[in-house]
Amino acid sequence: MFPREVLRQTLLRIDGRPYGAYRDLTGAYDFGRFRLHVDWVQPDPYAPPSRLRVRAPVLAAGIRPVQWADPGRRTALEDLLLRRFAAAIHRAAGETAAASPDRQPPPAVCLEVERPGQQILQRSGCSISGGLVEFRFGCALPARGRLVQGMRTAAALDVALPEAVAFALRSRPEDLIERTAHLELHEDQQVLRRTLEERGWVAFLADGSLLPRESGRSDLPLRARGAVRLSAPTTLAATVELPHRGPVRGMAIPEGVTAIVGGAYHGKSTLLGALALGVYDHIAGDGRELCVTRADAVKVVAEDGRPVTGVDISAFVGPLPGVLDTRSFSTNAASGSTSQAAAIREALEMGARLLLLDEDQSAANFMTRDRRMRRLVPDDPVIPLVDRLRWLWEVERVSTIMVVGGAGAFLEVSDRVIRMTNYLPTDAGEQARSICAELPDDVRPVWTQPTKVRPRLLRVDAPRTGARDMPRVRIRDRDGLVYGETPVDLHACSQLVEVGQVRALGEMLRLAFRYADGRRSLEEVARAVGAEIDRGGIEVLSPWPGSAPGGYTRPRGLELACVLNRFPGLAIGPSAE
Ligand code: ADP
Ligand code: MG
Repeated sequence: MFPREVLRQTLLRIDGRPYGAYRDLTGAYDFGRFRLHVDWVQPDPYAPPSRLRVRAPVLAAGIRPVQWADPGRRTALEDLLLRRFAAAIHRAAGETAAASPDRQPPPAVCLEVERPGQQILQRSGCSISGGLVEFRFGCALPARGRLVQGMRTAAALDVALPEAVAFALRSRPEDLIERTAHLELHEDQQVLRRTLEERGWVAFLADGSLLPRESGRSDLPLRARGAVRLSAPTTLAATVELPHRGPVRGMAIPEGVTAIVGGAYHGKSTLLGALALGVYDHIAGDGRELCVTRADAVKVVAEDGRPVTGVDISAFVGPLPGVLDTRSFSTNAASGSTSQAAAIREALEMGARLLLLDEDQSAANFMTRDRRMRRLVPDDPVIPLVDRLRWLWEVERVSTIMVVGGAGAFLEVSDRVIRMTNYLPTDAGEQARSICAELPDDVRPVWTQPTKVRPRLLRVDAPRTGARDMPRVRIRDRDGLVYGETPVDLHACSQLVEVGQVRALGEMLRLAFRYADGRRSLEEVARAVGAEIDRGGIEVLSPWPGSAPGGYTRPRGLELACVLNRFPGLAIGPSAE
């Protein structure tokens, strides 16, 4: 441990020297209120950023032990502290450069902390344990050419950083209020989630919630004047008693089959999107903070071209030309309908009990077939979903919520019909029933499964995880990753919300491959990886032993399944040797 002055002196000494001199920064520095650890220094300006940590006692921040007593609360508190730390760093990095004579960007731009999105999630960027809070972040140590810019680094690490830490841990009355409100919201959300289970609901959306987003690319709430807040129709309304907010009225969606109908542009997909992300808790002010969906909900879309490995799709697809057996269906490039059938079976393998579907993102021939087609092509191998929904619910106990605009056959098999009109839900159940009686449709429910589905036993042979030759994981954005040489397309996994989750998934693959030895099911593999993270924290994902970088956000096991199922090297059963 060095005193703080040593950091300054070292930077002064190496200023203007070749970049490698930055190595002298490695070590820990005592800043009084916190300690700065420089764990790893990048060898050159173009290498990945150097890895740093800050550790401070939580008590000094006015945080009481009860506020991080259980893992859920601790995650909520870590989430808030990281938000504040990231906000302060970004503010410092965005400060106007006009003041500096050479118009250089502010020194804090070298500090790399990812800003958390709208969801309250477990992230490696902040962790509380043993009475200490730790922030992990990157620092792209600045260079002029290939020479050390010691003064800029000092301005970042010795000025901007302490200010950000102070802001993150500040305990003025308004900070304590914010912290308490954040933890109370978290508690209300937990109670709301328990209520779903107790009352047999799959989702609850509080009155006053704001579902639309700023744009397709942004997860921020729509701030336009015309934004319509949710209000539940009387017949679908229920009231929940929350510990902090008291009674909250809203729209409860019970288990079973629910259709969301309505004219184009009336808010159907927006509602479904909120339901899909309702598996996460949202921060105050998001608009969806009291919209919760069962944690195991999976949005299922058609995704032609995706690989499928050994999935039993026989419940939806009978014998196909050129395919030996749809009880173990494999392809490098699935069609729309087979990809959607596979996605449903994969969700069921993971124990998901709620499927979300949007007609817009589904394969038409997978969804329904009308009278004329049933007569013209009686031997179509696809059993359309409309024929399977009652089986899914009554036999498999899997609920469905689906957006339908065109296919009225679904009204026949729905327990509930929610109609969106000008962004507001109404109960169209009665009306739908009388229309069905008047204009019967040709639905032919199928109640049996050709054979008992056995769980796939996963195997991945190629990229073994040796300690040395670990394949590199590259992440460009939320939509995919490259594991070694193998790209995996994740654009269809719409319940991924942060690039940090994709980063974590890349590392979780390494762990998963150790368990995928041909003797464990998808669910067992995902559970084993989840248990490792539960035990060691999300920082176990770090590819660098002993130093835990920020930037990883914990995804659900269902998202790990999403990646594994799309991994081209996946195989089934024990290896031949
Ligand atoms: P649909 O799926 O019924 O065609 P969308 O859900 O895609 O409709 O919504 C159409 C447009 O209306 C989108 O731009 C969306 O952001 C906007 N929108 C949805 N819900 C609301 C709302 N409650 N208030 C204001 N605008 C909304
Ligand atoms: Mg739509």
